[in-house]
Amino acid sequence: MSITSSCKRCGTCCRQGGPALHGPDLALIRAGRLQIDDLITVRRGELAFQPLGRCPEPVHHEFLKLAGQGSTWCCAFFDETTKGCRRYHHRPMACSVLDCTDTGPLLDLAGQDLLTRFDCLSADDPLLALIRDHETTCPCPDLETIGRQLEHPATKAALLADLEVAVSRDLAFRSQVAASHRLSLARELFAFGRPLFQLLQPLGVQASNTPAGIRLALNSR
Ligand code: SF4
Ligand code: SF4
Repeated sequence: MSITSSCKRCGTCCRQGGPALHGPDLALIRAGRLQIDDLITVRRGELAFQPLGRCPEPVHHEFLKLAGQGSTWCCAFFDETTKGCRRYHHRPMACSVLDCTDTGPLLDLAGQDLLTRFDCLSADDPLLALIRDHETTCPCPDLETIGRQLEHPATKAALLADLEVAVSRDLAFRSQVAASHRLSLARELFAFGRPLFQLLQPLGVQASNTPAGIRLALNSR
């Protein structure tokens, strides 16, 4: 939400999703104005909307963004009752430059000096080892390529079988770490991003938990 006089406080920009965080926003985290549990990691390989983008694009460098509300991307700090920002005086940089009548400054900022989870943790934070372990064990696949491969009947079944293994491994890792380190869901989303099965949903892949384990199926399109 902009600070400019042209802002009508409609809330549309905040409902479309919280901002990505940039270098200067690290000061908000260090001052305790933002907690890491307010943030979600978007990993390399995911598909994500760029500011003002109309369709999701491949993520080449991971970044952090403000978490959403419930299952939506509506910014966690957006107050629907007042159509206002609960952190207005300490909002991230991308929010302070956003003016929907002049999107140039936001587009200039997009992709620049993006913060990652590694910027937010001290060198001795035990989460670091877990994050690296997760990246090694459960790297995020290239979802753009997977989306294309799912279009081909000849390769679809084998690909879904491979993805079932990857989804199961990712869920098992999260479950084990959540139990052993008492991670909240918010901390898990900061540390490891969203589970693979959620990332596959926009590609039409639905996961179900069966007695035989995780099974994936493609929605008819
Ligand atoms: S910046 Fe534009 S979209 Fe966002 S709240 Fe203001 S008027 Fe609405
Ligand atoms: S931090 Fe505030 S201004 Fe920025 S998207 Fe969230 S609710 Fe809107």
